[in-house]
Amino acid sequence: MSETDRKPPQEWHNCGTHSGYRGHRQRGETACDPCLNANTEYYKIWRANNKERYREIAYSWGKRNPEKVRSNMRNVCRRRRARKLSVESEPYTQDLIVELYGAICHICLEEIDLTAPQHPMGGEGWEKGLQLDHVLPLSKGGNDKIENIRPAHVKCNILKGNKPLAQPEITFPVN
Ligand SMILES: [Zn+2]
Ligand SMILES: [Zn+2]
Repeated sequence: MSETDRKPPQEWHNCGTHSGYRGHRQRGETACDPCLNANTEYYKIWRANNKERYREIAYSWGKRNPEKVRSNMRNVCRRRRARKLSVESEPYTQDLIVELYGAICHICLEEIDLTAPQHPMGGEGWEKGLQLDHVLPLSKGGNDKIENIRPAHVKCNILKGNKPLAQPEITFPVN
């Protein structure tokens, strides 16, 4: 009998530990809450003990994923803006919003190109790229919660601005 055969399932799954978290990932599951917390805690400690290494990894990851860095920065800006306007806010990610509402622009109802740049300065094809839109703008009393967020095209979102959909065409930095 091998070592692993003798282990009872609970011990094998190790829930509530970092290796439990890895186990979930290896089996292609979504990690349970105790494992998610253990993983967060594990990396918090690891980062504190490996500051230099963490900076190196974060830096090279950022070089490989410029679009994700920009998207994270937008997320931070957005949450800061929500706090400034003191509107209700909850954490969400682009992936979550697309999963919930589909890769469809809620303004023109056409498909969004998830691989396209997410900003007019991002290069070719940006018009069909993804941005998250507040259905009721924050400045008009909308909240920063999932119920008020929809996927939109970059161009549709810019044209919409804080105003009704019908608007004169504006000039873009890249076209
Ligand atoms: Zn678990
Ligand atoms: Zn659109």
